[in-house]
Amino acid sequence: MKKKVLAVLLGGCMVVGMLAGCAEKCTCPSHDRCHQKGELVMDVIKIRDLEIYGHHGVMKEENVLGQKFLVSLALYTDTRAAGESDNLADSVNYAEVSYLVKEQMEKETYRLIEAAAEQLAKKILLKFPLVKKVEVEIKKPWAPILLPLDTVSVSITRGWETAYLSIGSNMGDRKAYLEAAIEELKKVETIREIKVSEIIETEPYGYTDQDKFLNAAIGFETLLTPDALLSVCHEIEKKGKRERKIHWGPRTIDLDILLYGDCVMHTETLTIPHSEMHKRQFVLEPLSEIAPYVKHPVLGKSVSMLLEDLEEHK
Ligand code: ADP
Ligand code: MG
Repeated sequence: MKKKVLAVLLGGCMVVGMLAGCAEKCTCPSHDRCHQKGELVMDVIKIRDLEIYGHHGVMKEENVLGQKFLVSLALYTDTRAAGESDNLADSVNYAEVSYLVKEQMEKETYRLIEAAAEQLAKKILLKFPLVKKVEVEIKKPWAPILLPLDTVSVSITRGWETAYLSIGSNMGDRKAYLEAAIEELKKVETIREIKVSEIIETEPYGYTDQDKFLNAAIGFETLLTPDALLSVCHEIEKKGKRERKIHWGPRTIDLDILLYGDCVMHTETLTIPHSEMHKRQFVLEPLSEIAPYVKHPVLGKSVSMLLEDLEEHK
């Protein structure tokens, strides 16, 4: 009953999502996309056991003589548009994908099939924008270990994930620092579909004896892992001459990871979702502009609900 009322409130996309079981436990690689753009569970195009003669292996003989490899792919995409139009331009051309795999596997010499799989996944995801997620399996029949075996294989899954950052500056030409950071993000090959909120001016938070901030939120799709994304943020901060003198003190540029898909993690260097995001109006306000319905995976509330809660308890 409760579900039905919610569905009516949130509109058609949510209703369909509920019917597909999506609101219970979403299986999309990017949860928000499912609710915001109406994409539900992914369709899949499969290529099975594409035979390729390559020179990959740890042993020298393998690199010289070469051997047969079998590559299988599952390309996760939305085939609905192609299904309706019956036009190849609306889908992923599996012949093109197969030729890319053949070329890459013949041209390069990898010691490990893990490396071959990693590079194939990355190439496919970068070259075919309709592929949201890919499973790559590489089989090595009769791997030379002097024991009778059928095949050895490696199977990996890689895909585009949606991430959100908060950026802020309260030193020097604040707007220029924010814009430079956004330009740097645009240069990263493994980041795409960048959305930027309005820039807002805010009072300092925590350590209040400092100048006002400019803040914004940024959303994008990325192939980077959370740790690799943090490194990119730190690199951009370094380029923006960021210095860390006072905790929560003045800064030319600060980039924080707010959300990364449904990821929940805590290590010495990285906490996702950002541990303070739900307490900060200067984070939630711009974020709710670009991602109002994205759900905080721990608190279970959308960004706009978190902002409402915060404003109520001011
Ligand atoms: P703050 O952003 O809190 O003002 P810093 O930018 O100096 O402080 O960040 C301090 C450290 O916080 C970073 O070096 C990073 O390792 C860690 N950190 C933990 N979680 C996150 C996150 N979600 N985004 C960015 N940094 C994080
Ligand atoms: Mg920071």
